[in-house]
Amino acid sequence: MQFSLISDTFEKMEATTKRLELTQHLVDLFKVTPRESISKIVYLIQGKLRPDFEGVELGVAEKLAIRAIAKSSGSSVRKIQDLFFEDGDLGHAASKALEQKTQTTFLMQQITAERVYDTLFKIAKLEGARSQDMKMKYISSLLNDATPQEAKFILKIAMGTLRLGIADNTVMDALAIAYTGSRANREKLEAAYNVSSDLGRVAEIVAEKNLDGLDEFHVSLFSPIRPMLAERVKSAAEASEKLGKEFAAEYKLDGERVQIHLGEDRVILFSRRLENITSHYPDIVENIPKALKTQEIILEAEAVAINENTGEFLPFQELMHRRRKYNIDRIVSQYPITVNLFDIMYLNGKDLLNSTYVERRKKLEDITTENEFVKLVPKIIVRSENEVEDFLENGINAGCEGLMLKVLDAPYRAGARGSNWLKLKREYRNELGDSLDLVVIGAFFGKGRRTGKYGTLLLATYNQENDAFESICKVGTGFTDENLDQLYQILSNKVTLKKNPRIESGMEPDVWFEPELVIEIVASEITLSPVHTCAKDIVRKGSGLALRFPKFTGKIRDEKAPEDASTDQEVVTLYRNQKKVTQNVSEV
Ligand code: ATP
Repeated sequence: MQFSLISDTFEKMEATTKRLELTQHLVDLFKVTPRESISKIVYLIQGKLRPDFEGVELGVAEKLAIRAIAKSSGSSVRKIQDLFFEDGDLGHAASKALEQKTQTTFLMQQITAERVYDTLFKIAKLEGARSQDMKMKYISSLLNDATPQEAKFILKIAMGTLRLGIADNTVMDALAIAYTGSRANREKLEAAYNVSSDLGRVAEIVAEKNLDGLDEFHVSLFSPIRPMLAERVKSAAEASEKLGKEFAAEYKLDGERVQIHLGEDRVILFSRRLENITSHYPDIVENIPKALKTQEIILEAEAVAINENTGEFLPFQELMHRRRKYNIDRIVSQYPITVNLFDIMYLNGKDLLNSTYVERRKKLEDITTENEFVKLVPKIIVRSENEVEDFLENGINAGCEGLMLKVLDAPYRAGARGSNWLKLKREYRNELGDSLDLVVIGAFFGKGRRTGKYGTLLLATYNQENDAFESICKVGTGFTDENLDQLYQILSNKVTLKKNPRIESGMEPDVWFEPELVIEIVASEITLSPVHTCAKDIVRKGSGLALRFPKFTGKIRDEKAPEDASTDQEVVTLYRNQKKVTQNVSEV
């Protein structure tokens, strides 16, 4: 398949933000894509080479790409750097450099999509001393045969800066239309995606066998399952209203969610974002098999840092130390954890997603022998608001964030945030009644003690419909000096010269960032705002929503992708709940 078909499509997609048009461009592309290449094309559209859990990283450095463009276009490195600095996009720099190329290359070969994919894949796999030179050769070999437009998108993919303004849902819509004739079948594709976390494979099967092929998707060992997520509730009363007379309450521990796959003498661990995090937890790999009476299993657990002397739970931040490549053995003994099991999705060849909560919990209890390291998350069945309140109190005293409240006869709904699981956090009960996870999109430089650092951050919610990040507040409080240093280090690698097109903001900060980092914020209230773009026009025409007195809680949520941040819709719900509360209070 000619790569120009892809670059033409991407060009058209970049020119629109309308979801229907974006979907149609993808449908047109899928219709001309040969079946054997569809998975590769889907990964390229997602800006990756393989599903996240395989950890195939492109790893092309800017400097190296600049050298490759210079070589292929016959320009100087300096010239390419100047083009790059014009708008901070190496894709544009490459296309401009090739447009200005004076000598034409003879024997230019037409570039195929397969060649682009395979070359990028080879680059990702290169390691060792000579790998930089080889990477450069591979990129310039592509650029030698590329048109300026093709070069632009090759570079964007290679640098991880391709932004088509679409989320996985749009790709699934387009696949459903192209291969099954109806968007209504999207849900079936989504079900397959939820248990495989591999959109390329879903595309391949649906292209080959239409809907029939989707039966092939089952929960399977070492393919992560997209996690089930919870809705918030503000009080035990609200939970009872939603869940009825009887439901389960579990401690909501403040650690890292870990999906544990065990079988064939191996243990593989996946994060909430479904990245392979096995290397962070050698202690889980070693100890988990000892606590389980079974051969093949997929479990969910919260890994929590503990105080070794008292056994108390420590806050989530302590786990940050685990995210490193070297000296992990020392870190493991310095920052001990326990593993707290709360769900089971697969057992000895059997998919348990459709079993009820009660059945799954029973299985989990049957196969687990608790020990110092492996525990079952404390759970009770509750029948009254008082019981919820008491258990919450106990949980908070034990160092938990709150409670998870779960419907007894509900299945495990992979990949969905729904009301079969509710979360009741302590902080929901004061002020705004919530914490939000927001994406850092920009910053203003600090003054005084904060000179040379980012004094105030500009934050955004995620809009799923438009795949956009919409500003909601500036935050300058709640930061310790250590936080400020740490955030400066992380964020200075995310600075962009131009605002990322997925950001919608009425404010101009001193610097823009790639929307990647998620942090946790509490606030006193949500108000209408003429400046911020979160939920613009939804509550009132011409206004967005903003946070009043926002404060950083100290939590950098780097286990969350920006698309997992709080959404504009969640903020609208909070705004409306808050109005209800104030109305009730004034009625009293
Ligand atoms: P949060 O920001 O509240 O951690 P989240 O978006 O990561 O939420 P939710 O499904 O909304 O995910 O909340 C549940 C989270 O709480 C899980 O991701 C998990 O990490 C954690 N957790 C702690 N204890 C439990 C438990 N007993 N059952 C389920 N999840 C639990």
